[in-house]
Amino acid sequence: MAKKRKPIPTKVVNEVMLRSALTCCVCKKRDNTIQTHHIDKDPSNNDIENLAVLCLECHNKAHIRGGVGRHLTASLIFTYREEWYKMVKIEKVKEAMRSARRVLEDAPHAYIETIPEIRQKLLKTAQPEWDSGVTIRMVKAHSKYIDGLKNILVKLAAFFPKGAFGSGDKHEFFSEIISSKFKWHSSLTETQFAGGTIAGVICGGAVSSEVEKMVEDMVQTLLYSEYSLWKTWKKEWDLAIPA
Ligand SMILES: [Zn+2]
Repeated sequence: MAKKRKPIPTKVVNEVMLRSALTCCVCKKRDNTIQTHHIDKDPSNNDIENLAVLCLECHNKAHIRGGVGRHLTASLIFTYREEWYKMVKIEKVKEAMRSARRVLEDAPHAYIETIPEIRQKLLKTAQPEWDSGVTIRMVKAHSKYIDGLKNILVKLAAFFPKGAFGSGDKHEFFSEIISSKFKWHSSLTETQFAGGTIAGVICGGAVSSEVEKMVEDMVQTLLYSEYSLWKTWKKEWDLAIPA
């Protein structure tokens, strides 16, 4: 007498589907309609070890009696299933590693590549002002250039571990560093050029160089494991002067 079919608990079906990646473990055709098969053909035995995901085609082959066609025996299905579960597991680990790498590396790479061009654009705006010889314009151009570099620093900070640059606002973090650099350089230049606007120009130039160095340091840190990439980037960055 045929055994009575018992519905497979959802939790068990889900687990079987997960292990099999919603794919028939025999033919592995992804588009085929799938169902849960009882390997021992006892529909009341819902033990997870007794279940395998098969497509309708393979399921029919499993239920063919006699010598017609290719017959899928219970032990054959079991072997197929074990092999397939292993492959799915390996593929899942590989995918997890791929996505981790994407997050860690590819995101900064894409942005880092664009930085020399950003610098070139900033310089293109600043250079005519610096060449004007009008100190007030020169000072303004420096502060605009430094602001542009600061935006790069803030964007780069996102690729560092959480909390690497304090827990607060990154703009504020870098603004504080930059303003302390201004303080330092004005203390020095004031001694030489007391009160003159030329002091502001010298100071702006000195701070610009230091903030450029901060960008370089951050990029070098992000590319620490890729020396040749860093060298190439540095060359591009140094050459990023408007034509
Ligand atoms: Zn199949």
